[in-house]
Amino acid sequence: MTLTSKTAVVTGSTSGIGLAIARALAKEGANIVLNGLGDEAEIEKTRAGIESEFGVKALYSPANMLKSDEIEEMVRLGERSFGSVDILVNNAGIQFVSPVEDFPVEKWDQIIAINLSSAFHAIRAAVPGMKARKWGRIINTASAHSLVASPFKSAYVAAKHGIAGLTKTVALEVATHGITVNCISPGYVWTPLVERQIPDTMKARGLTKEQVINDVLLEAQPTKQFVTVDQVAALAVFLCSDAASQMSGANLSMDGGWTAK
Ligand code: NAD
Repeated sequence: MTLTSKTAVVTGSTSGIGLAIARALAKEGANIVLNGLGDEAEIEKTRAGIESEFGVKALYSPANMLKSDEIEEMVRLGERSFGSVDILVNNAGIQFVSPVEDFPVEKWDQIIAINLSSAFHAIRAAVPGMKARKWGRIINTASAHSLVASPFKSAYVAAKHGIAGLTKTVALEVATHGITVNCISPGYVWTPLVERQIPDTMKARGLTKEQVINDVLLEAQPTKQFVTVDQVAALAVFLCSDAASQMSGANLSMDGGWTAK
């Protein structure tokens, strides 16, 4: 238990990678502020499950990552309830797949807001408290698409390249305050986000489901395997440890070799 008495806010933690990170941080003793969309009863089950399984406190913030005031309130909820927000994981994200000329303008705006601007709003709210306590860990879930592009994902690739830049900038600004800022860049992780983009990719590229999985998704990854949510979560836990205190501004790939090509 390395994170006892710390509090972690994890955005987009009702599902997929964020949920695995929240559970892994709770396992290390951190209190958790869960966030994300979903069925109320399911979310309550997840929240209560974290408390009973790991013996920590867990709260749920319904903040919509499209709304800056709600994002700030999510951070304040953690500070009011637990006394501090020590770890901030900006993880919420959505995807949309379309040729650029047909890309719906509202989808572009949503992806930039949820996948990029929400991290800015949360960081802006959390950094003063971290500076005051001289300790903080900010982890942004970026993507292999923060380093390389794929066709038909203009908004997602733009947002993820943006979050890599935001990570480096804030890392420099807070470097002398005991705060590290890093991003994790997974390749394809089998989560609802990946499952949901298969039908659109089938349409955009004229392929079957099996062809999308094997020839588009796993084609990118030399290991020919999906990354697991627990592998990403283990890296997040490591970034919160003392062993990682000199890692900052890094963009850490976990992509089966994708971006080595
Ligand atoms: P997911 O769909 O399982 O989870 C996304 C989470 O974000 C959910 O909790 C959802 O409720 C939340 N969310 C979406 N819109 C929101 C909003 N407006 N306000 C608050 N919460 C909102 O997806 P995932 O695969 O676990 O993705 C998590 C992060 O990992 C994303 O940033 C994604 O871009 C990134 N990522 C995923 C993969 C992958 O292959 N799955 C690869 C690289 C990066």
